[in-house]
Amino acid sequence: MTASNNLTDSLLEMYQVEYPGFKVIDKESSPLMRFLGIILGIFSKRWMDSVSMSLLNTIYLSKNARDSTSLPLILIHEMCHFVERKNVGSWRFYLRYIFPPFGKSWYRAMIECRAYAIQLVSKEKYGYLDNEVTLVRMAKTVSGPIYLWPIEEKAAYHFILTMARAAKPSRGCLLDYGSSLTPVWYLEFSRKTLKVVGDVYDRQLADK
Ligand SMILES: [Zn+2]
Repeated sequence: MTASNNLTDSLLEMYQVEYPGFKVIDKESSPLMRFLGIILGIFSKRWMDSVSMSLLNTIYLSKNARDSTSLPLILIHEMCHFVERKNVGSWRFYLRYIFPPFGKSWYRAMIECRAYAIQLVSKEKYGYLDNEVTLVRMAKTVSGPIYLWPIEEKAAYHFILTMARAAKPSRGCLLDYGSSLTPVWYLEFSRKTLKVVGDVYDRQLADK
């Protein structure tokens, strides 16, 4: 079997071995998602078409995500949530994520910052150099209406950057290893993800 040059396929292949039990489906094919779309559409018109999400073992990819060149990064983001839930347990994960639904929500903010941070370092590993622009945009997203304003933008920026630094294996992670911001499962998930991203990027360069 030859290794795939397609990043999405390669990531799915690895995740299915390392973190089995998830499935990926089109968001609009789910009645539950269509129902949620009516409610959450009040807060964010982009929610149905643009926001992908994971719920229990299913990752729901939005239409825009599937058409986007960012699809592998979106998959990484949602897998990060899947792996976090597996590690902390569903009850704890969802209670932390949902409460408080409005106003500042530390746990929801941290769960999202973690997923965005691994997206950020994966993008960098894949050869993109606009990470400051991406980081600013991510901080705006995490602190905005899609997540019901759980944290201030400046704080989101700081946390994503801190987590992204810890997620890079070259940084050693010694200080951050197993901290509450960047727990062990997260650093392992980052390491496995970045390995695939780096390998695919190298293969694509070699083919050029
Ligand atoms: Zn998320």
